[in-house]
Amino acid sequence: MRKKMSEKIIKDKLKLCYKFLKKMDKVEKKRYNKEGIGGIRMKKLFLLIFCFLMINISYAEAVNYIQSIDVISGNGTSTVIKTSAPIQYKVGKLTANQKLYFDFQDTILREKKSIPVGKNNIISVRAAQNMTKPSYVTRVVFDMTELTDYTAVLSEDKQTLTISLGSGEEIVKKKIVLDPGHGGSDPGAVVSDLSEKHLNLDIATRLQTLLEADGRFEVIMTRTSDVFVALLERAEIANKNKADLFVCIHNNSMPTGFKGVMTLYNDTKLASNKELANIFQEKLEKKLNMGSIGTRLRTDLVVLKNIEVPGILVEVACMTNLMERRALRTETFRQNAAQAIYDSIVTATL
Ligand SMILES: [Zn+2]
Repeated sequence: MRKKMSEKIIKDKLKLCYKFLKKMDKVEKKRYNKEGIGGIRMKKLFLLIFCFLMINISYAEAVNYIQSIDVISGNGTSTVIKTSAPIQYKVGKLTANQKLYFDFQDTILREKKSIPVGKNNIISVRAAQNMTKPSYVTRVVFDMTELTDYTAVLSEDKQTLTISLGSGEEIVKKKIVLDPGHGGSDPGAVVSDLSEKHLNLDIATRLQTLLEADGRFEVIMTRTSDVFVALLERAEIANKNKADLFVCIHNNSMPTGFKGVMTLYNDTKLASNKELANIFQEKLEKKLNMGSIGTRLRTDLVVLKNIEVPGILVEVACMTNLMERRALRTETFRQNAAQAIYDSIVTATL
């Protein structure tokens, strides 16, 4: 399907180039007497470059890149492969030399990879560009001491493939409790027609999708709709589930002059919460590029005071700042916020 689409794009662009050249030919004939042969040659050269660029642009649109290959070992070994567009793959076995391989169609690998494993019968996981003609194929090979059963799970967006090998037991997923601040009768900050509770839930839901597509996380939400949940109850959900991480999502209301992201922490029970706050603060600052208020120690907040698991509270942006209010209205900004929090969770827990 993808190949057919890319062929169609290239055909269409070639047709366009041809039409354009034909039209220019007519114009050139008319101008021949004015500019002479030299002028016409230059134009042809420019046209050739133009056509070349058009074809290249369509090619760039059509290809899929391998973005990352990660190997996680627990009771079993999971290999998580992420791509820039939906993937199609084929599986093969070379029983003579104990190799299992996955071929990703129309997919480019920028750099060869070799990851030593030494667990669950896997010697190493290697990735290379196996073919470039007639199409690009990236091959991921599992060098094994003994071929064993595997499971391959493709995410809903078809951009993440998780290959599990080994004991057959499920990899222990990291439990993440997401807490979209406020809800129901508690709107949080209200500035012009924006209510904080809706922004918090929107970002948290986007984040939930990213985490679940990854395959390495189990997500528990303290609320999934516009309902009131008491502060103590939110902390209880994190404690009861023995979360690996508790992430509270808010948006800020600050006096004039304040802008950017802020991360709150309480390190009285867990000293590592301060470092955790730094991870979130840094990633959000970098991705959102709206400025920074910094991290703040808050020992008085009910949720941060009552959690017995690692956790922080992020104030994504200042609703009181006009520029940030405008940004918060866009899906792109809210998606970027979710992505930055997701990146922080990956760094903090894996
Ligand atoms: Zn809030």
